[in-house]
Amino acid sequence: MIGVILTLNAGSSSLKFALYGEDGDTPLAQGMVDRIGGNEASLSLKDGAGNALPVADISPNDHTQALAVVLDNLRQAFPDTELRAIGHRVVHGGTDYAQPVLVDQTVLSKLDKLSPFAPLHQPHNLAGIRAAMEAFPGVPQIACFDTAFHRTHPWVNDAFALPRDLYDRGVRRYGFHGLSYEYITGELQASAPLIAASRVVVAHLGNGASMCAIQNGRSVASTMGFSALDGLPMGTRCGQLDPGVLLYLLDQEGMSSDAIADMLYRRSGLLGLSGGLSNDMRTLEQSGTPEARQAIEYFVFRIQRELGAMAAAMGGIDGLVFCGGIGENSRLIRARICERTEWMGLEIDHARNDENARIISSDISRVTAMVIPTDEGLVIVRAARAHLAQENAT
Ligand code: AMP
Repeated sequence: MIGVILTLNAGSSSLKFALYGEDGDTPLAQGMVDRIGGNEASLSLKDGAGNALPVADISPNDHTQALAVVLDNLRQAFPDTELRAIGHRVVHGGTDYAQPVLVDQTVLSKLDKLSPFAPLHQPHNLAGIRAAMEAFPGVPQIACFDTAFHRTHPWVNDAFALPRDLYDRGVRRYGFHGLSYEYITGELQASAPLIAASRVVVAHLGNGASMCAIQNGRSVASTMGFSALDGLPMGTRCGQLDPGVLLYLLDQEGMSSDAIADMLYRRSGLLGLSGGLSNDMRTLEQSGTPEARQAIEYFVFRIQRELGAMAAAMGGIDGLVFCGGIGENSRLIRARICERTEWMGLEIDHARNDENARIISSDISRVTAMVIPTDEGLVIVRAARAHLAQENAT
């Protein structure tokens, strides 16, 4: 029997998963159950080389059934394996969790209390954990948090200028995408230790987007705050917004909080700015309509602004790392951001950028610009492996 570790990332109607061996960075298999609870639910499953594996038709009603479907298919594809641990991506660890944690009923009820802080994500993440605990009562379940990496923020980057009791009640700038930032930090420490020990801004630019100021490996500031709405515009999320707009929509336009949440999370960002054309950067780049061009212009401009703020939070910048679907693949967006960062001492090498090279700044550039594909799943599986190693040692 080969020992394996499963990682789960449960969303509102999806369950992403990956199966890893006891060592190695590449998953043995990965995939996703999509549209859970709907008529068109589907399962995709790929092996480590990215080849599609055969799967049966499915119709799961909830995460428990979706997980059962995943397990059935994994058992068929990998019959001689034994599950040693399950790692979960959890969006919110509040102020308590700065590290991954072994989940038991006490932890679960603490995490439940954080659901009001992330109502669109946390309950689904926890549904995934409950489903896994039910299916494998004896297997360790390790929760890894998107907020954990940012627990090192100084108070000024943790607080809002609101009455103090709100801070005590948890209204703080938590920051998200922490698993991605942790991965990039580890990669820098391994391959570019001098840069890792300096002042780095990581731009995680995907359908969700944020930036993080990382000084000597520790998060100092992030563009995301209390929720995953703040900061940069995203595929469908608005990014930074004057709270006066919300008051106006509530009081003058008579919008309900549900309708506002739907607009801010699902109909804004690149999708909203492009007049409903698309949330997908590839489509916008190819389209060329005036609205698509403006959406891209806004995206780049907000990154340029926030990059200045992130650098200022550290008293300067020595490295800029791009990751996420847009950061890793869009030469156009990277070039436009870097061109506007010349004043900070960054000189892009366009040939390197066009080749998607790891370093895309010139040899004489004072700031090193890099492209590093992120891997949040690997951070989760490493946390699960660390737990197993600790268990074996005791
Ligand atoms: P993610 O959420 O990290 O998977 O990133 C998704 C985003 O990356 C979408 O907006 C995609 O359009 C964008 N993306 C992926 N590949 C490319 C590409 N070659 N050029 C531009 N954008 C891309």
